[in-house]
Amino acid sequence: MVAGHGMVGARFAEEVRRRDPDGRRVRLTVLGAEPRPAYNRVLLSTVLGGGLTAQATALHPPGWAARHRVDLRTGVAVTAIDRAARVVRCSDGTTERYDELVLATGSRAWLPPLEGLADERVVTFRDLDDCERILALARPGARFAVLGGGLLGCEAARGLAGRGVRVTVVHPASHLMERQLDAGAGEVLAATLARLGIDVRLGFSAVAWEPDFGLRGADGELVAADALVVSAGVRAEAGLAADTGIAVDRGVLVDDRLATSDDRVHAIGDCAQHPGTPAGLVQPGWEQAAVLADLLTGTDPAARYGGTRAVTRLKARDVDLATVGDPAVFGVDGVDGADGAEVLRFADPHGGRYATLALHGDRVVGGAMIGLPEAAASMIQYYDTGQPAPSDRLGLLFGRALPGAPETADPGRLPAAAVVCRCNSVTKGALVAAWRDGHTDVPALARATRATTGCGSCGDAVRGICTWLAESDPPTQTALTPVPEEGAA
Ligand SMILES: Cc1cc2nc3c(=O)[nH]c(=O)nc-3n(C[C@H](O)[C@H](O)[C@H](O)COP(=O)(O)OP(=O)(O)OC[C@H]3O[C@@H](n4cnc5c(N)ncnc54)[C@H](O)[C@@H]3O)c2cc1C
Repeated sequence: MVAGHGMVGARFAEEVRRRDPDGRRVRLTVLGAEPRPAYNRVLLSTVLGGGLTAQATALHPPGWAARHRVDLRTGVAVTAIDRAARVVRCSDGTTERYDELVLATGSRAWLPPLEGLADERVVTFRDLDDCERILALARPGARFAVLGGGLLGCEAARGLAGRGVRVTVVHPASHLMERQLDAGAGEVLAATLARLGIDVRLGFSAVAWEPDFGLRGADGELVAADALVVSAGVRAEAGLAADTGIAVDRGVLVDDRLATSDDRVHAIGDCAQHPGTPAGLVQPGWEQAAVLADLLTGTDPAARYGGTRAVTRLKARDVDLATVGDPAVFGVDGVDGADGAEVLRFADPHGGRYATLALHGDRVVGGAMIGLPEAAASMIQYYDTGQPAPSDRLGLLFGRALPGAPETADPGRLPAAAVVCRCNSVTKGALVAAWRDGHTDVPALARATRATTGCGSCGDAVRGICTWLAESDPPTQTALTPVPEEGAA
């Protein structure tokens, strides 16, 4: 039994059916509170920006659940868990027995304690309904305030500005995305958004939404707006677990087997809290879904989830921003190089470029890059592979190819272990293996490995690898000619 049919609950069902296609080992019931089958929530920013339709975000084709022996009930929430009887109660009045219960209830948008938020022109940014409401209000020339200058607030602001909406981002902290960026990077991001026509007000402590006027600050200042998008953070949906006495902190506490304090109840995705795992990203949830499917189908009883390395990317047209690692190591709280890290920094506010990298010895342990896509790709490779960074720090900071360094622009020289699709943890080596198995174009590689099916930002990289393979290992010769490239094995 799975509670939650979002990105991770849906992936869990898929992973179970990959291992148990006929449903002989595991009977699957999935209850989802939303009125529709699961969709790719990560792509909502792209929908808001006009790059995709809502329909294109569906994770499974129509009828997938029935064809795969999944008893999917949409529009039905689990309302309570009776652990002694191993029964869940549902919002439609029914009860369901379970042998194993998987909580994949995600997280919800947090509403700060402001006056006036119960207004139809105030919308959070979490699901497709929110997205549709925002779009209905987003006429060209309309004035929007976005409350919260974190990752999602910036993405929402960029999407709206691209539709001709006049946007002001208000943020209580002294720089944008302070949970991921140091002050210098935050300033460059604010300047980049300003160039795209977005007004950014920092240190703005909002106290009330005044429907016919806008957003009022603590010092009386008014940000004139017709509508408000609240993007002030999320909270794990852990209430069901807490109510039944399962251990909960910020999320439902789980171990490396994704078990909660009750061995029969598991938690994966945004609602789960695993030590050392970043919150609010899809990659950890999808990795957890695969591990739990291994365990619950009996495919691999030794499977364990060991945590995920955090990489964050802003998905906003004309803004290239990526961060890795724990921001504390490069001085996000104003203290340079916490834990004795060596911190490298480059700032070009005028050109919209910024780089900061933190190293422990010769390992990249954190960093943030704006407007430097090559350097960002190189930073991510060093961070992922743990490969020693070159002593030429200037070359490292700017992602220049050096002997022995990961080469990111040339797919042929990319190491096989390099992660190409972050959301689905697909390496270059896995793409090469799929190619050799006969998946010789981008859609086929996507079907075989799932690369490009998360946030989609690896699309160019996968196309590049495909072009390189078509030249170095053309499909007609695969049986005869081994790939001559050593990094690809
Ligand atoms: C606009 C936006 C952009 C994002 N961009 C990125 C990105 O670029 N990269 C990234 O890694 N992550 C991104 N995220 C975060 C990512 O979407 C989440 O990490 C991911 O959706 C988590 O999946 P989940 O299944 O745990 O939760 P969800 O996808 O939230 O799904 C949980 C589901 O459970 C349902 N549910 C809740 N309670 C119950 C109940 N009691 N009974 C039944 N069902 C219930 C909910 O209605 C929901 O449908 C973004 C999120 C948003 C909103």
